[in-house]
Amino acid sequence: MAEDLVPDLLRRATEELEREFGALPRFEPARASDGDAEAMAAVLAETARRLGDNYPYFHPLYAGQMLKPPHPVARAAYALAMTINPNNHARDGGRASSAMEIEAVAEIAGMFGWSEYLGHLTSGGTMANLEALWVAGQIADAGPGTKGRGTQSRKRIVGSEQAHYTHHRISGVLKLEYGTIATDARGRMRLDALEDELRRGGVGTVVATLGTTAIGAVDPLPEILALRDKYEFRVHVDAAYGGYFKLIEDRLDEPARRAFKAIGQADSIVIDPHKHGLQPYGCGCVLFRDLRVGRFYKHDSPYTYFSSKELHLGEISLECSRAGAAAVALWATQKLLPLKPGGDFAQGLTAGRRAAVELDGRLRCDGRFEALRAGGPELDIVVWKMKEATAERASKLAQSIFSTCSGHNLHLALVQLPQFWFGSASGSSAVEGHVTCLRSVLMKPEHEAWLERIWNEMRAACAEVEQG
Ligand SMILES: *Cc1c(COP(=O)(O)O)cnc(C)c1O
Repeated sequence: MAEDLVPDLLRRATEELEREFGALPRFEPARASDGDAEAMAAVLAETARRLGDNYPYFHPLYAGQMLKPPHPVARAAYALAMTINPNNHARDGGRASSAMEIEAVAEIAGMFGWSEYLGHLTSGGTMANLEALWVAGQIADAGPGTKGRGTQSRKRIVGSEQAHYTHHRISGVLKLEYGTIATDARGRMRLDALEDELRRGGVGTVVATLGTTAIGAVDPLPEILALRDKYEFRVHVDAAYGGYFKLIEDRLDEPARRAFKAIGQADSIVIDPHKHGLQPYGCGCVLFRDLRVGRFYKHDSPYTYFSSKELHLGEISLECSRAGAAAVALWATQKLLPLKPGGDFAQGLTAGRRAAVELDGRLRCDGRFEALRAGGPELDIVVWKMKEATAERASKLAQSIFSTCSGHNLHLALVQLPQFWFGSASGSSAVEGHVTCLRSVLMKPEHEAWLERIWNEMRAACAEVEQG
């Protein structure tokens, strides 16, 4: 493991915090047991042993799922805030941390070009999307006064086949009908299929995913926005994973670049600081372009209330108690690493993306693998299929390579993808069915320097599987 800066950072900051409350009389906390330091140390030693039963998510050789270690400053700030344990439901429960949340969210909104908006943190992307779709449903039900957008009750929500699986589930919770739109060979929403659906009528909201969870595909947002003018629906951008790529949009290829440039025209946006934003889990964010959606949260408040700097975050969020520590950690991280194109944080994203493009290029030069036939990664997720005569054999081989790599301390992931995304020969979408593929999310800046090692471990694992 790398040297851990957190204990020292935390010790120094804790001394600072103690001074803040230095005027209070000392007291001895009541403890459940004797609070014996030895007993606590013993429990923690056992805790550490239990935690050993994990993949090493913090290490560059962990290149599987979307897991990125929180920044040391985020860990230290989170732990520091635990001393206070603020609750960002209301100012009473978390005065400083609510103010820090408002500042941190303003910086995220600013990244998307929004200076006026309604937004707050949530416990994660699912809760943030739930809130966005809940508001969408409320607007569809609200009838006149919503500028004609969705005056018909109970309008449908649609997302692509590659949209996050929770959108379907969320729609079920909200009792809103959910429809699925086909994707092309790059995993992007097909515009012809979307327009067919729109012609049927009754679509209230289109969920555009900027960075799908499986392969980091970017839906054609500018074209979806053009359809909004014609058919009138809300556009919700699910950028839980991909949102921060806004900072390096100029380094993305077309058409992903154009999609990120258009993001500010969405009606709502979700981004997860706990995915690419270097935060501990428990940190999502939802943003609405129209402040007036605030009226759905609290009917007897005029909407101007919600633009006030003094708002209670609990008045504009579905959740009640929320970790103020999550806001503190995010605030501290953004203080150190501002959300600026060309800044250190943005450069970290660029490094991961370069690693993904490099890995994809190597896969394309090696006869054992098949990369996506329609092009390389749009963000920093690489997927590939084993070249075998049948999908069954390719799937089995991918499984063996996945576990053999794990034995070499290289951790990849598996993913089921449509077969027609692969293979150069016919390129026909007539190939039905799914195939198990290998997947690597190269989201840590260290992945770039470690790519050679990752590649060599994988080739060694392949050779081992071939011999065995
Ligand atoms: C991860 C993800 C979600 C769900 O977010 P959680 O924070 O895991 O609840 C939603 N949409 C997309 C595109 C995601 O990648």
